[in-house]
Amino acid sequence: MNGQIRHSQMLIDGQMVASESGEWLASDNPANEEIIGYSAAATAADVHKAVAAAERAQPAWAAMDPNARGKLVRQVAQALRARADEVLKLEVQDTGNTITKMKGDVEHAAHAMEFFAGLGTEIKGETIPASSENLHITVREPYGVVGRIVPFNHPIKFAAHAIAAPLMAGNSVVLKPPEQSPLSAEILGEICRDILPRGVVNIVTGNGMPTGDAIVRHPVIKRIAFTGSVPTGMAIQRAAAETGIKAITLELGGKNPLIAFPDMDPDKIAEVAVNAMNFAWSGQSCGSTSRLLVHESLHAAVLKRVVERVAELRLGDPLDPNSQMGPLNSRRHYERVCSMVQSGLNEGATLKHGGKRPLGKQFEKGYWLEPTVFSDVNSKMYIGREEIFGPVLSVFSWRDEAEALAIANSTEYGLTASIWTNDIKTALRMARNVKSGYVWINGASSHFYGTPFGGFKNSGLGREEGLEELLGYTETKSIHMKLA
Ligand code: NAD
Repeated sequence: MNGQIRHSQMLIDGQMVASESGEWLASDNPANEEIIGYSAAATAADVHKAVAAAERAQPAWAAMDPNARGKLVRQVAQALRARADEVLKLEVQDTGNTITKMKGDVEHAAHAMEFFAGLGTEIKGETIPASSENLHITVREPYGVVGRIVPFNHPIKFAAHAIAAPLMAGNSVVLKPPEQSPLSAEILGEICRDILPRGVVNIVTGNGMPTGDAIVRHPVIKRIAFTGSVPTGMAIQRAAAETGIKAITLELGGKNPLIAFPDMDPDKIAEVAVNAMNFAWSGQSCGSTSRLLVHESLHAAVLKRVVERVAELRLGDPLDPNSQMGPLNSRRHYERVCSMVQSGLNEGATLKHGGKRPLGKQFEKGYWLEPTVFSDVNSKMYIGREEIFGPVLSVFSWRDEAEALAIANSTEYGLTASIWTNDIKTALRMARNVKSGYVWINGASSHFYGTPFGGFKNSGLGREEGLEELLGYTETKSIHMKLA
């Protein structure tokens, strides 16, 4: 940060403020452990102020024409683009994600906002011929104040996306960014303060406890959307149920399979397998295909090429455009990932590459782990079934389609799956049978706005990135009008 230590404030009731407690959380650069800034540590009292402001602002916001709301949401997207360089530099240092790939995040964020801004008039009701004496119609109404909580891997992308659909549906929002990488949220806060009516968006920074929990438990908040880990998702469901009946959607973790059939070229599979691990952010992506399921006829060739490719990845300063991989996001997460690598070794998986801190002066500090490849992994092993959320790829071998499917479906997760074959019937059969919410055939990683994204099983509840997300911020009301 060029010697400048940032104190990142929150947006509450149209003002950029510190926490009423005066406390701040330190944010370090995971590449070298230097403190680069502080974020306000919101107390429950701060959250209550934010919710009260959101509650006051919401009726007037909901009363605006959807196109007028859309115009303002578009302005937020444009203002974010205008500050893209500043956001990028800050986020690269706050997350450790590499700059070249991270460049897309502000654009993704702005695109998500514009996507929802254009859908305002799609919040439609129906007419239903339920009786001849009445006109039966439905209308969709906002919940009121929506609570949104997002994780550390793509802070601005998730934060900006998170406010767009609830706002377009006529809700006000209380947003909580991640405590590990919170600094860019101040920029979004300043933009929202300058463009949106006071109180419509409030941003409170802080830890899960007490800040996130205070949002979840607040009696006024009846709609919560959470992106993060399965254990936190479960904790949120429990906490919410203690204070009211709340609608909750959850975008959670994944242990996603990439399934390669025997008609594929091993070089191609190795290339996509490495790309789809998202090593640019150290594998910290919910959609990373961290289980590579290769037919036995290709297994040796694919494994050899995967290891060669991974060995070529250039680890280095995330701000250097030549770096292809950075560190893990925080000390706590680094220690967790290292312990999972150790459990793989203990359980008898074969370490083919990585598994330790890279050599060199620049890697002595920071949360660096070499890109890691294990073979001889099976679904009973901890590393074969649990999300690692790090740069660790597990390679499995399978004999027939039934076995491939059984491995693919063997975990509690069901977020994405990537199927590689040119046999259309095999591809579609697998796509139908795999228990995942987002499936690519001969593709991986890409998201396509308009198509619903979300997980089966413990990977989540509800869908985002399409009309379903927007409508998910509304409740349906039936109105019956006597005609006679
Ligand atoms: P996390 O669950 O630890 O934290 C996510 C957010 O929840 C943070 O803002 C945190 O402060 C907050 N939080 C923690 N405890 C809370 C509580 N008791 N009540 C309310 N809020 C609380 O997750 P993380 O480590 O930040 O992120 C990694 C996880 O997120 C991975 O599992 C990853 O797969 C998942 N993820 C999912 C998607 C998706 O779209 N499905 C996208 C990105 C990340």
